Amino acid sequence: MDREIFISEVKRLNIDLTEEMLQQLEKYYELLVEWNEKINLTAITDKNDVYLKHFYDSLTLCKIIDLNDVDSLCDIGTGAGFPGIVLKICFPHLKLTLVDALNKRINFLKLVCDDLGLSDVECIHARAEEYALKNRDLFDVVTARAVAPLNILLEYSIPLVKKNKYFIALKGNEEVSESKNALKVLNCKVVDENKFLLPLENSNRTIIKIQKLGNISGKYPRRFAEIKKKPL
Ligand code: SAM
Repeated sequence: MDREIFISEVKRLNIDLTEEMLQQLEKYYELLVEWNEKINLTAITDKNDVYLKHFYDSLTLCKIIDLNDVDSLCDIGTGAGFPGIVLKICFPHLKLTLVDALNKRINFLKLVCDDLGLSDVECIHARAEEYALKNRDLFDVVTARAVAPLNILLEYSIPLVKKNKYFIALKGNEEVSESKNALKVLNCKVVDENKFLLPLENSNRTIIKIQKLGNISGKYPRRFAEIKKKPL
């Protein structure tokens, strides 16, 4: 996806990119490729591919929620910063929290925030389920892309979400039918689903918006070993 197509496709998501945002994305791309030589961040390094499969793909979250109305957002299993950093660049008002289990990726994200001048970003080195135990009911939106199956992601993320607010999963294919029990136990429901094809390469995408309906038992999230052994 070249620059011109990127700008026009992002406009169709109702996002007007400023020159500063475009420069920040460009700098982010350069840092990603530079640091990818030293630490494993992504298998995708061709510039047009990064703009399509990382930058544009991250912004598709805006198909299902208007981030202008969102104050705090947490991206769990953010890796090299997708979708969190891209969303922060395009919606600078967001109070962003990035969580990842790998410290080298968290250190990369701190460097990106410094170099791009992004403020109000917390980079947390933790497993999501451990972070969620101590940070309940905190965020307007929690999101994740390519981290775990939906039923497991729900256990990591729903404790972090404020009552009546949302967890938004960026997925390849739909998995809602396998997550009915997790939705029930964690007192939440699917309120919207958007299926589409990624432009140019036409691969399947599903964005699932899940609302937290109320309090959930303090025993969730369980420890990873238990989640893995007996997923909801
Ligand atoms: N979200 C990014 C993306 O879409 O490019 C990264 C995806 S990468 C395949 C999965 C990331 O999730 C890795 O960086 C891994 O360390 C992190 N991860 C997996 N399970 C996690 C957990 N329970 N808590 C925190 N991070 C986790």
